[in-house]
Amino acid sequence: MEIKKKIEQLREELRQHNYKYYVQDQPSISDYEFDQKLKELAELELKHPAYNDPNSPTKRVGGQVTKNFPTVVHENRMYSLSNSYSKEDLIDWEKRISKIVDGPIEYVCELKYDGASISLTYENAELKQAVTRGDGTQGDEVTANIKTIKSVPLKLKGDHIPEKFDIRGEIILPYEGFSKMNQERLENGEEPYANPRNTASGSLKLQDSAEVAKRPLECLLYNIAGENLPFETQLESLQKAHDWGFKVPPHYQLAASIDEVLEYVNYWNEERFQLPYETDGVVIKVNNLYQQEELGYTAKSPRWAMAYKFKAEQVSTVLDEITYQVGRTGAITPVANLQPVQLAGTTVKRASLHNADQIEKLDIREKDCVFVEKGGEIIPKIVGVDFSKRPLGSEPTNYLSHCPECSTKLVRKEGEALHFCPNTSSCPPQVTGRIQHFISRKAMDIEGLGGETVALLVKENLINNYADLYTLEKEQILPLERMAEKSAQNLIDGIEKSKQVSFERVLFALGIRYVGETVAKKLAREFTSIDRLINASFEDLVKVDEIGDRIAESLIQFFAVDKNIEIINRLKSYGVQMQLTDDTKNKTSEKLKGLSFVISGVFTQLSRKELKDLIEQNGGKNTSSISKKTNYLVAGDQMGPSKKEKAEKLGVEMISEEQFLNMLK
Ligand code: AMP
Ligand code: ZN
Repeated sequence: MEIKKKIEQLREELRQHNYKYYVQDQPSISDYEFDQKLKELAELELKHPAYNDPNSPTKRVGGQVTKNFPTVVHENRMYSLSNSYSKEDLIDWEKRISKIVDGPIEYVCELKYDGASISLTYENAELKQAVTRGDGTQGDEVTANIKTIKSVPLKLKGDHIPEKFDIRGEIILPYEGFSKMNQERLENGEEPYANPRNTASGSLKLQDSAEVAKRPLECLLYNIAGENLPFETQLESLQKAHDWGFKVPPHYQLAASIDEVLEYVNYWNEERFQLPYETDGVVIKVNNLYQQEELGYTAKSPRWAMAYKFKAEQVSTVLDEITYQVGRTGAITPVANLQPVQLAGTTVKRASLHNADQIEKLDIREKDCVFVEKGGEIIPKIVGVDFSKRPLGSEPTNYLSHCPECSTKLVRKEGEALHFCPNTSSCPPQVTGRIQHFISRKAMDIEGLGGETVALLVKENLINNYADLYTLEKEQILPLERMAEKSAQNLIDGIEKSKQVSFERVLFALGIRYVGETVAKKLAREFTSIDRLINASFEDLVKVDEIGDRIAESLIQFFAVDKNIEIINRLKSYGVQMQLTDDTKNKTSEKLKGLSFVISGVFTQLSRKELKDLIEQNGGKNTSSISKKTNYLVAGDQMGPSKKEKAEKLGVEMISEEQFLNMLK
């Protein structure tokens, strides 16, 4: 009884903190404290599976993998909206509906969030299921993924909650989170995602819910459907939804006439750029729910609602010149240098041109008058050319053929959109960029050395690659600009200290294309040393969980370059970690000799694969099903009840991840 109380209390506490943080944007405790409490709860739940709760805050980390999302019929159909684009459209609409309903009509204006629509079903104040819009009649059930979105309440609070109802909303990805995701992709040499909306909607159907949990998605709610609802207007419904714990953006407003609606539209047409997420219009809804009922639906949309689409803010200006940037991985990005122009409240001088195909498709040329649009992306983009203003004698753009920095001929692999400069060893931005990546926080984290100093060291020819860092001497750097005795010493000390950095991070620091932090960790655990990784064949590589053709190919290519091997050997000779040390790998003990294990569920510290590897490396044996011969069942989150029953019946001991790791200590 005590335990049950403790578990419930922790859940309630975490729920409240979660609400304050993600719905109200007002954190009430530190992330650290939150994590500690979450961990405590996870451990209690593991030890006491009888008190399992599918809507416990611990379920938000994800881990459930869905191969096929079941199709579910919407109990209340999900309609689309009719569109309007002008005052006249709205006045026509008002005329139409005034003929159907009696009395004055009031409207609620809301913003139209640009994401993926979702329908959440709640029963007895708990989230039951989440279904995508699909064709409006039926969609895909994506509950496990939706549970990882922190602003979706798993349990509701407050009064007058209907026993059962659907609530509709939009899953969106705020600009900030979106651009962070893209930055990471660029750092890993991957193509950035095109826009927040597609990324949000793609996230709903990811198979691994732990991946969804990592994305900073949010859920904004705007409509409740069901029977015997405790309100009579749309306005009240939004207020109730807010009271029950849903994230309802506060920008909605009551309007007594179409003129007031237009005021709202005009205001937000400008102000929307200050919002942290994308909106593409306003939705106008008849406020009174009895009037809504009278108005009913056409085949496709409610008669009681209307979308008013914002015009994408667009301006035209002259494209002076197309220049090209070379990134750390050698990727070339074309940039449009524009005559400065005001757009959505900022002065725009540059716009992204994406790649060669895009330039060709739109037939963009220097000196053209181009249309520039600010959409979801932070950097504006060119959406077309005003051909009527094309200067005489203009020539189609010849995409750059040689690197602007080192004149090497560019290459473009089949199926890839980007051109690359293959001169990885001496193309200046690549040289600098790679060293900057090497020293960065998540990589070698070299104290006392920053990106600008790296650029300076390269410029002064003191270093050419990251191995050169380890032969730097204080006397060489002292004469540099803004370098004093103390800062020079710090730099040398920082470099020395980096020899302690673990192999997994060294591997990430090498800057191999597609080898991000997670992949580096996987590879390090699997191959344990750089030599074994270098000698691994393509087949060896793709056998590893989550290592696909693309990553394998990239590794093979990297190690095929003599210069890279030479640098690696130098790093090794200076004492940089090129293999896992004993405490990171726990390798090859006999501690589990003769013991047989079954792994089940989802784990927090290690992946299933890593657990299995540990068992084998320590002399134990993995089996897939429980039998009398099984010694231990290592039980994670979401373990099936049948496994547990069987273990109990056969008297097999169940242990947690924690307890298992303790066995190895
Ligand atoms: P459309 O896809 O253009 O037919 O627009 C209809 C969609 O707009 C709905 O399915 C919702 O996903 C979305 N939407 C965004 N914000 C709102 C809102 N405040 N009220 C209703 N629908 C909205
Ligand atoms: Zn180059």
